[in-house]
Amino acid sequence: IQPPKTVEAKKVTEEERIVLKRAGKIDPKNIEEYIALDGYRGLARALEMKPADVVEEIKASGLRGRGGAGFPTGLKWEFTMKVDAPEKFVICNADEGEPGTFKDRLIMEGDPHSVIEGMLIAGYAVGASKGYVYIRGEYFESVDNLRNAIAQAYEYGLLGKNILGSGFDFDLTVRLGAGAYVCGEETALIESIEGKSGRPRLKPPYPPVKGLFQKPTVVNNVETFASVPTIVMKGANWFKGIGTPSSPGTKVFSLCGNIVRRGIVEAPMGTTVADLIFKYGGGIENGKKLKMVQTGGAAGTFIRADEINVPLDFDSFKNHGASLGSGVILAIDDSHCAVDVALNLMEFFAHESCGKCTPCREGTRLIVNILKEFSKGRGTREMLDNLYNIAYTMQNSAFCGLGQSVPVPLTSMLDRFRDEFEAHVGVDACPVGVCKFDKKK
Ligand code: NAD
Repeated sequence: IQPPKTVEAKKVTEEERIVLKRAGKIDPKNIEEYIALDGYRGLARALEMKPADVVEEIKASGLRGRGGAGFPTGLKWEFTMKVDAPEKFVICNADEGEPGTFKDRLIMEGDPHSVIEGMLIAGYAVGASKGYVYIRGEYFESVDNLRNAIAQAYEYGLLGKNILGSGFDFDLTVRLGAGAYVCGEETALIESIEGKSGRPRLKPPYPPVKGLFQKPTVVNNVETFASVPTIVMKGANWFKGIGTPSSPGTKVFSLCGNIVRRGIVEAPMGTTVADLIFKYGGGIENGKKLKMVQTGGAAGTFIRADEINVPLDFDSFKNHGASLGSGVILAIDDSHCAVDVALNLMEFFAHESCGKCTPCREGTRLIVNILKEFSKGRGTREMLDNLYNIAYTMQNSAFCGLGQSVPVPLTSMLDRFRDEFEAHVGVDACPVGVCKFDKKK
């Protein structure tokens, strides 16, 4: 990994906060408090524009999807807008399931109207009149706050028929997920809303062309929708002035693991992992040393403590080998063992694999079995090679993003901590003193 070459990220002042500008300052159950702090002004401005101009504004802003993949939002809207169909949908993917990610929960809890407003703007721009928020069932407070906000928006004429006298109609419904990681994959989510079991569809066709009930559908993440009203209000150029050229704006990061101040922080795109952990997170707890960081979520990369000077944006993976993903910063101190961390994570994927495709269903189980051997001191160097082979197969043949992304954390861990895996070969005790293995079992 080379030292960062990208431009310095500009700082976000409190006034420049986009997604968290109201969270903690307003009563999320009171629409009047939202309106008093510029709430629904972005929608009002959008309704004065032509739908195609709203799409252009979002395209020009360079906003990229905050769920993890970073697909250009304006392009997604344009695809949907251009399909001539009698019915279109907008879906908010609030099925936040990435381990360590809790930013969408806090956005919905603290400022639910910002998500509704973003969805309304999307609906107007692409010609949709019905929206769904598909939200994790365990997010009780988010569900409550959103349902309450939707009811209030109807009361104030901001949802329903002829919104703000513009002739635009939009209805919004909440659907609860039941705790399956794969239902955060947009096509599995769509199947789930349709009443089927949540298993992914083959892409293409992508949802903008054939989505919910085979109709053109915009699917965006909570944070993406929450960014939209401010962009429409302040303009694309303002937004582009924050962050990096290829990933404008801010990102809400979830700081977790062995960090002193765990929580969320909104920082400009391009903020370094080091700043996120030490400046915002207060460093590593209990005076321990940082050993590794997983950036981007369960499907993200592991980097070593000496690599944390990387700026995070959607191109960090290409440029520096560290992924931004959904913005998770999982700090792991030196009391943890690489084999143990990898096993824990891979057990998660094996549990969450939906079983539809063989590479993911069998691949995740094989990986877990091999890592268990290492954690018992029975690993071999051939097994390490096998892990790379399985990873290669999964990356190239798994059906959906879940299976395709498992190799990213696995191989980044093996590449950087291979010595620790090798140190587990044929020994009687975990060299780090963590794996609880007994060679006789
Ligand atoms: P993807 O790259 O297949 O798609 C990203 C988005 O772009 C989708 O909405 C897709 O429909 C759209 N898209 C891509 N190509 C398109 C095209 N040609 N035309 C129209 N639309 C197109 O990625 P994905 O599988 O949807 O998502 C993977 C990401 O999800 C990973 O980065 C991972 O970090 C993240 N993730 C997030 C969570 C969470 O809780 N936030 C959970 C799991 C995974």
